[in-house]
Amino acid sequence: MTTVPKFLIVGGGLAGAIAAQTLREEGFDGRITLLAAERHRPYERPPLSKDYLQGKAERDSIFVHPEPWYAEHAVELSLDSAVTALDPASRTVTTATGAQLRYDKLLLATGSKPRHLDVPGADLDGVYYLRNVEDSDRLKIKFAEAKRVVIIGAGWIGLETAAAARAAGLDVTLLVSGDLPLQHVLGPEAALIFDELHRSHGVDLRYRTTAVELTGRHGAVTGVMLSDGTRIDADMIIVGVGVAPRTELAANAGLKIDNGIVVDEHLRTSDPDVFAAGDIAQTYSPRLGRHIRVEHWANARRQGAVAAKAMLDQDAVDVRPSYFFTDQYDLSMEYTGDIGPTGYDRVIFRRYADSNQMIVFWLYEQRIQAGMNINIWDVADDIDRLIQSPRPINADDLGNPAIPLATL
Ligand SMILES: Cc1cc2nc3c(=O)[nH]c(=O)nc-3n(C[C@H](O)[C@H](O)[C@H](O)COP(=O)(O)OP(=O)(O)OC[C@H]3O[C@@H](n4cnc5c(N)ncnc54)[C@H](O)[C@@H]3O)c2cc1C
Repeated sequence: MTTVPKFLIVGGGLAGAIAAQTLREEGFDGRITLLAAERHRPYERPPLSKDYLQGKAERDSIFVHPEPWYAEHAVELSLDSAVTALDPASRTVTTATGAQLRYDKLLLATGSKPRHLDVPGADLDGVYYLRNVEDSDRLKIKFAEAKRVVIIGAGWIGLETAAAARAAGLDVTLLVSGDLPLQHVLGPEAALIFDELHRSHGVDLRYRTTAVELTGRHGAVTGVMLSDGTRIDADMIIVGVGVAPRTELAANAGLKIDNGIVVDEHLRTSDPDVFAAGDIAQTYSPRLGRHIRVEHWANARRQGAVAAKAMLDQDAVDVRPSYFFTDQYDLSMEYTGDIGPTGYDRVIFRRYADSNQMIVFWLYEQRIQAGMNINIWDVADDIDRLIQSPRPINADDLGNPAIPLATL
């Protein structure tokens, strides 16, 4: 008698949903169960800080698959089913309701959780985080009532919510812990673009400051005390100080953890039947020769597919550079690449006649490490190819918009 193989996916986010889809596309006809802690079928998070938050996109548009897709593809979707324990020895997971499920292969795709603010007053009403669709709904409602918001943290979430809050007509103060927003990601040359963008839209940026205390009255937040001694009034606070990978299950199960769940290039963990994908995976990149953990949409998509193929014993690896995107006001950009520990030694700005369009390249020893195209499209694949090219690049050609990237 043949037994039907059972594949289990823990985490109903993008990586988990794409893994289920890929398993079926690759012809897997065993059992697939997707265990999701949230009450919604898998959805995409980028709209939560952009169009969905601004009321320009409907709830229906954010889901990875339409509702009937799961039954049509025989994917058992178990919502509201947080997994609380994993026992690799017996190949079993336990859910919060005490149900035990056995697997032949397991994919962990439990994503990230926001880092919490650790200052007095952090638990007052009116302090918001943004990770899931309910968080976005709550922010949208509060935007309609509030007048002044202080945003703590000038990373992607901080900047995108600042843009949404300005669009909703709020006074926005943005606390930047360093010299410029995004400086640690883009470096000072290109971070200036985002600094100027937000200043030109009326955001009050406070540099080299952090919140030391949130003040309140009757349990609701009324303001922020800053590390430089100033106090700012606010009727809401948004905290965007980064995320941490949800590695508890894997750690308690004894899997190797080091800034995420450590996986090889096929996304296999230290247990050969357990895989990890998306925000939680600290992945070996053969192209970079080191491990890297990426908290972006494209990585969750690509790794969901790679993990599914690897679970089917295919030789799947993602060798492409990282990719992410953002939309803020009238600026849309894509960023391709991974700036490694050696950093970069040159920044090239490729400026176009339309001053809203630009490509920024970061180079190290004449090789492109990363590129960011702003308000200019269909170039990300060329940038990807140039990053993967072993040839040194001529910086003058790169900076000249008359020379098509495809010819470099
Ligand atoms: C507001 C917002 C905006 C973003 N914008 C962009 C953007 O513009 N561009 C970009 O590139 N990236 C963006 N990102 C990042 C991108 O959305 C993430 O990298 C991506 O969602 C990661 O997918 P994932 O499947 O690894 O994890 P997640 O999307 O976090 O999904 C993991 C799921 O697993 C569930 N889970 C956790 N623990 C358990 C458990 N024990 N049992 C069962 N289920 C569990 C969680 O509830 C969650 O539903 C944004 C993220 C957010 C929050």
